[in-house]
Amino acid sequence: MDIGIVGLGLIGGSLGLDFKVRQTHRVLGVSRRPSTCERAIERGAVDDASTDLASLKGVEVIFICTPIVLIQPTAEKLAPHLSPDTILTDVGSVKAPVVQAMDPVWQNFVGGHPMAGTAESGIDAALRDLFVDRAYVITPTEKTPPDSVKVVESLARSLQSRLYTCTPTDHDRAVAWISHLPVMVSASLIAACMGEDNLEVLKLAQAFASSGFRDTSRVGGGNPELGIMMARYNKDALVRSLHAFQAHLTHATTLIETENWQDLETLLTSTQRSRLDFVE
Ligand code: NAP
Repeated sequence: MDIGIVGLGLIGGSLGLDFKVRQTHRVLGVSRRPSTCERAIERGAVDDASTDLASLKGVEVIFICTPIVLIQPTAEKLAPHLSPDTILTDVGSVKAPVVQAMDPVWQNFVGGHPMAGTAESGIDAALRDLFVDRAYVITPTEKTPPDSVKVVESLARSLQSRLYTCTPTDHDRAVAWISHLPVMVSASLIAACMGEDNLEVLKLAQAFASSGFRDTSRVGGGNPELGIMMARYNKDALVRSLHAFQAHLTHATTLIETENWQDLETLLTSTQRSRLDFVE
């Protein structure tokens, strides 16, 4: 099969590395910068690459791996070069706005999200086997052609990913809980600590900070662009999760203020158990 990848960065490059190794596919890439195209060929992520979307004419499946804001505009520019049976899919980390924006642009579109990544970006950050044993979520709607879904599912399976199918909205709500809410909670933790008005105490806290603070502050201390992207594209689900979180925080505060140690123990025993349902 001929596969196209637009956006040869961390995710696009990693997909290319795996498709080239695992299958007998021909992989053609398109990226913004000629230097990225050259590097992608050099790294073996693509058979050929160019900055021209027209080079993907005749390709059967195209993965759009650009930043989220460029997924729909890229599809619009691609459309005149494609035959109607070309399958377009994306890898955007938020699904409802992307799937909605793609509806008038390309009928044969399958929303997707391979849930793997690192803190790095760009073609040099691309890794072989990045998607092994990671969730790959497909978000078809009632309009998505079932045969196209099957093709994307089979490509996702070939990466040895764990395949999930759900609606775009359910995807966005789920990632709000486990990915986007933690970033805002962790960022708020850092900001609250920085609000300590006694400079001596603040300095001591910074000196004492160890593994617990490192774990809980990690995602809030990451790339601001990613946090803004989450808030901007998944606003409703994130605000919903933040309100729920605030209610739980208020409840915990009340338990402590009223010295209700018994209910606090019940709460912490229950969260200790529940954590295992999310992470082993
Ligand atoms: P990335 O490493 O920055 O790669 C994006 C690539 O897109 C860049 O290398 C850039 O290529 C290319 N690009 C930018 N504008 C373009 C254009 N107009 N036409 C063609 N290519 C263009 O970012 P990423 O982490 O791979 O993220 C890409 C997508 O994957 C995003 O939609 C994101 O939501 C999704 N995603 C990310 C993660 C993660 O953890 N990072 C996980 C799952 C999904 P040049 O080098 O040529 O400028």
